[in-house]
Amino acid sequence: MTRPISSIEATVLENAVRIGAVGNLSPETVASIRQLSVTATCKCGCATVWFGPKGDAAKGSIAAEACGTWNGVTIDIIVWCTDGQIVGLEVVGAGKVGLPDPTSVRSMEQWFQAP
Ligand SMILES: [Zn+2]
Repeated sequence: MTRPISSIEATVLENAVRIGAVGNLSPETVASIRQLSVTATCKCGCATVWFGPKGDAAKGSIAAEACGTWNGVTIDIIVWCTDGQIVGLEVVGAGKVGLPDPTSVRSMEQWFQAP
């Protein structure tokens, strides 16, 4: 089932790309984040979403890496891309983690330097 990206997913994605970009995403790709369609969700029940035609079978490279806070715990946020297109927004933590608060998104460096 395909659905439009939610506002909170788009904001988390935009913040992660702005703060933690490690690959080259074109300004056009970043500008089109709010037009992405979710083509698959994670089977484990976490908030990870996939956008490409291949859904959760998408393979690619990491376009951005950041972390954020969900339910008081720090989780990793990984943005996947294939051929310059954003294909996944993955949240990594213990168990079925949800989307982080968009305002909590920060760089890995900031996380490691936190007291
Ligand atoms: Zn999952």
